[in-house]
Amino acid sequence: MNIIITTRCHKLCDFCFMGDLRNNAITDMTFEDFKKCIAELISHNIWTVNLLGGEATLHPQLIDFIEYASSQGMRIALITNLLYSDGFIDFANQNSYMFEPIMVNTDIPGNYQKGHYEWFMKNLSRIDWKPKPSEKNPKKMKPHLNWFGRITLGLDMKEDMYDYLFDYKPYGLDTLGISLDMTVPRKHFINNTALGDILVKIVRRFKDGGITVLQDGCGMPLCMFTDEHRKILATHLRYVNSGCSFAVDVLPNLEVIPCMMLQHIRARFEDGLKKITDDFSKLHKNVDAQECTDCPHFYKICAGFCLNGRI
Ligand code: SF4
Ligand code: SF4
Repeated sequence: MNIIITTRCHKLCDFCFMGDLRNNAITDMTFEDFKKCIAELISHNIWTVNLLGGEATLHPQLIDFIEYASSQGMRIALITNLLYSDGFIDFANQNSYMFEPIMVNTDIPGNYQKGHYEWFMKNLSRIDWKPKPSEKNPKKMKPHLNWFGRITLGLDMKEDMYDYLFDYKPYGLDTLGISLDMTVPRKHFINNTALGDILVKIVRRFKDGGITVLQDGCGMPLCMFTDEHRKILATHLRYVNSGCSFAVDVLPNLEVIPCMMLQHIRARFEDGLKKITDDFSKLHKNVDAQECTDCPHFYKICAGFCLNGRI
């Protein structure tokens, strides 16, 4: 479950899923509502919570939220653009055990507004990631503040377009999550093996350059790849999937949506996580198959790739 603790953000990424929710009037979740979310997760034996926004670190009580969740035995997976204050970096470095992990959305350097890329790089250089002896077993070294980078691939993807990420290796980048830009109409990806070919080249480039690549987020349509591509992905990607499984996003006002791209479908948090996930899972059965009708993978593997606009 993702908790959107704020809709505020100071970036304007082209690939942002937020749409009209970004910087809207709902803004920040209250501490009381955050506690309700944590209690609901614990009642379902879930011990990691994804915090995001907008830009989650713009929430003025973020540290209180993290300390509270940690005091309840939970670990925090934080999704961030890394444009945050020195104070938060100090907190994260000193309390690395609370995070699992920090996921850093990266953008092409030229896409940042004035001063933001320098801010990003300054923060990257301040992350204390270097492995340290484990408290339980001092002979074992483990990464201190665990973080990995993420990129969102769109129709304009090029093989060498993300090479700037190799510059982040000295700051501890060893894992990269890739996902497709779901704001692009899905018809552009279906059966588009030319794009699949570039995507596979990007994956190989990072793997060969010593960076572990995993698929992070929504599924990628199987039909984007030839059999040869699929063989490469099976050995070069740590995780890969071709389906759609809703993240379940709780908004700051406690409305719940299946994912950002399906914001028109809403449930109430008060109905409880079990009812919400049961209701959302029924949506998969109402998919208009459109261009996937003849695909042998439909439902079995792909489940319609992106259901946005189809239910
Ligand atoms: S169901 Fe088949 S044709 Fe449709 S997106 Fe998935 S793999 Fe492609
Ligand atoms: S409908 Fe499914 S695949 Fe599409 S954006 Fe939402 S979770 Fe991802």
